[in-house]
Amino acid sequence: MKKADIGLIGLAVMGENLVLNMESKGYTVAVFNRTVSKVEHFVQGRGKGKNFIGADSLESFVASLERPRKVMMLVKAGAAVDALIDQLMPLLEPGDIIIDGGNSHYPDTIRRTKKVTSHDLLYVGSGVSGGEEGALLGPSLMPGGSPEAWPLIKDIFQAISAKVEDGTPCCDWVGADGAGHFVKMVHNGIEYGDMQIISEAYDLMKRVLQLSHDEMSRIFTEWNRGDLDSYLIEITSEILAYRDENNEPLVENILDAAGQKGTGKWTAVSALDAGIPLTLIGESVFARCLSSQKSLRVNANAVYNTPEISFKGDVKQFIDDLEAALLGAKIVSYAQGYDLMREAAKENNWELNYGGIALMWRGGCIIRSAFLGKIKEAYDNNPTLEHLMLDDFFREKLERASKGWRNVVATAVANGIAIPALSSALSYFDGFRTADSPANMLQAQRDYFGAHTYERKDKPRGVFHHTNWTGR
Ligand code: NAP
Repeated sequence: MKKADIGLIGLAVMGENLVLNMESKGYTVAVFNRTVSKVEHFVQGRGKGKNFIGADSLESFVASLERPRKVMMLVKAGAAVDALIDQLMPLLEPGDIIIDGGNSHYPDTIRRTKKVTSHDLLYVGSGVSGGEEGALLGPSLMPGGSPEAWPLIKDIFQAISAKVEDGTPCCDWVGADGAGHFVKMVHNGIEYGDMQIISEAYDLMKRVLQLSHDEMSRIFTEWNRGDLDSYLIEITSEILAYRDENNEPLVENILDAAGQKGTGKWTAVSALDAGIPLTLIGESVFARCLSSQKSLRVNANAVYNTPEISFKGDVKQFIDDLEAALLGAKIVSYAQGYDLMREAAKENNWELNYGGIALMWRGGCIIRSAFLGKIKEAYDNNPTLEHLMLDDFFREKLERASKGWRNVVATAVANGIAIPALSSALSYFDGFRTADSPANMLQAQRDYFGAHTYERKDKPRGVFHHTNWTGR
């Protein structure tokens, strides 16, 4: 009997769709699931008549694979991955590859790569983005781990991944050990940011401009034809147009308490650990936290006066300003995400291909957008670019966006509407281009109360001074 080209463990939403994708590209796939009845159910159901080898034990699953064996896990992230690795390792032989396609936290992937490779096996931790539909039709794939594994899995990974217009796969080798899962984590953080700024723009259109849902939907459709062209702008337009069984916009009947699975938080925490100002994603995570304090907000609303909304400006101009604010904040968000990746690459000795990462996100995933093509171009033009906001294209866009963006922030503040992501991104932009920040005062305070010392502008860097501020 023909052996399988690759095996997959975990026939839940992602696993089922990913193996169907692999099979559709001509691969024979062995499948296994902890609850074994799901294997039969799949092979006789969605997999019927296709090139799947269903296994009823881990042993027979491993035995059905062509060598070097490629075993992909798409199971619940966390302890399940460690448990499976422990079960798999004694069954595999040197050179075989264990691939984790789940949303694992990158320090776990670093640890697992070390452990698995110490047994002469290869390990890959791959970000898989695009949800159920992406898994079936072409996800964005971000593999990292043992570099020797890449030539062995490249064909299949690139065959099943999404493609950009010219056919380039949204999948390339990211880097050693946890690099793939790190980049996937940043991708998820950026997704939080994109969703938050869009939600803030919707809030301003609804409460300040008092536009109808159909009008808002049309504006998002219009924006989707310009610099903001992206999957999230597109679905926002569709969400706004969607009416429920009572012919009311469904979005208004959805409880305003956002869930989160933790990858945005991981991104913000890793930025804090690395000392990188990832303000927009951080604010987006906190905005979800505040949203979920619904009853607290309702109570506060009852005891505080709410400023009356007053807008006397030009509606058309304000819509253009909103578009500018979204673009400006989006540039800041991606620039901050790239800043974090650059720092992590330094700390972990990863050689990240920044343009390649933009291309991996260009299709197949939730943050797919035309904008990512411009990031690729920026890194193609200058692979050692220090910061995305120093690239000419993005600098020009930021300069042009700033007037409208300021008007949006000022209007929101004047009307008492919270826009934590749009406003903090503007503050970052202003701080970023400020040569002389007020941190001299911080340093003076630190030296005053704690003798923490300071450097002087008029003396060489690296020479530290202390002042007895009180003369006591
Ligand atoms: P899931 O609900 O995260 O996990 C369910 C799968 O894990 C089932 O096959 C389950 O087997 C298996 N499992 C749980 N504990 C196990 C254990 N101790 N040993 C062996 N198998 C175990 O499934 P999912 O939503 O398809 O996601 C799979 C992975 O992809 C996750 O890491 C997820 O975060 C990631 N991901 C999901 C999405 C998405 O849109 N859903 C997108 C990107 C990435 P049983 O059937 O026996 O319970």
